[in-house]
Amino acid sequence: MSNVAESYRRHLELVAAAAAACGRSGRVRLVAVSKTFPEPLLREAYAAGARELGESRMQELVPKAAALPPDIAWHLIGHLQANKVRPAVKLAAWIHSVDSVELLQRIDRIAGEEGRHPQVLLEVNVLGEASKFGLTPEQALAAGEAFAGCSHLRVAGLMTMAPYEAPEAVLRQCFGGLRRLRDAMEARWGVSLPELSMGMSGDFGIAIEEGATIVRIGTAIFGGR
Ligand SMILES: *Cc1c(COP(=O)(O)O)cnc(C)c1O
Repeated sequence: MSNVAESYRRHLELVAAAAAACGRSGRVRLVAVSKTFPEPLLREAYAAGARELGESRMQELVPKAAALPPDIAWHLIGHLQANKVRPAVKLAAWIHSVDSVELLQRIDRIAGEEGRHPQVLLEVNVLGEASKFGLTPEQALAAGEAFAGCSHLRVAGLMTMAPYEAPEAVLRQCFGGLRRLRDAMEARWGVSLPELSMGMSGDFGIAIEEGATIVRIGTAIFGGR
């Protein structure tokens, strides 16, 4: 078994064990983040059972999706430019990085034109870091009206990225903050936002403890980038 296959399988077990350890009943979805890695490594992950792969850029997702088997659910996890929405809607099963109401409305319109129904997540910059994309918590809280107005999309939940190598208290503030924001949005708008996409190679254990339903793991599976 190659390293990638072995690492993928080990992380499936680690993710399941972390969920079980905090008494979570539902499955936590593992997205293998394959951005920057070459196709042969993606095929190794696929052979080990990976069917959900994450990419950051459409320029990379388009050729990989064309080259790899059709039963892969592609997760777009990076910032999406307005002029790339159509190919994203055609190719991605999940779009994690919806960082403005305008983008949400554009994805909804194009999804209707293309007859596609991607799952979308609103990206939130929970701690207000200057370097990051994402809605502020206040903007996200106010966005309920916009997604009630979507006719083709379902907003499935929220996504965030924690600061890199932050201390545990900061990670919990970020991930717990996303969960509490989700709870507040559900209460305010009477909607269901079951998905919380949070946690990467270095922090997925804490993210699961704080309620992650999707973790996005790249380097721990594929190796150094
Ligand atoms: C690259 C990336 C990941 C994966 O990060 P690793 O540290 O390699 O696990 C997860 N989420 C997003 C949004 C990313 O850009």
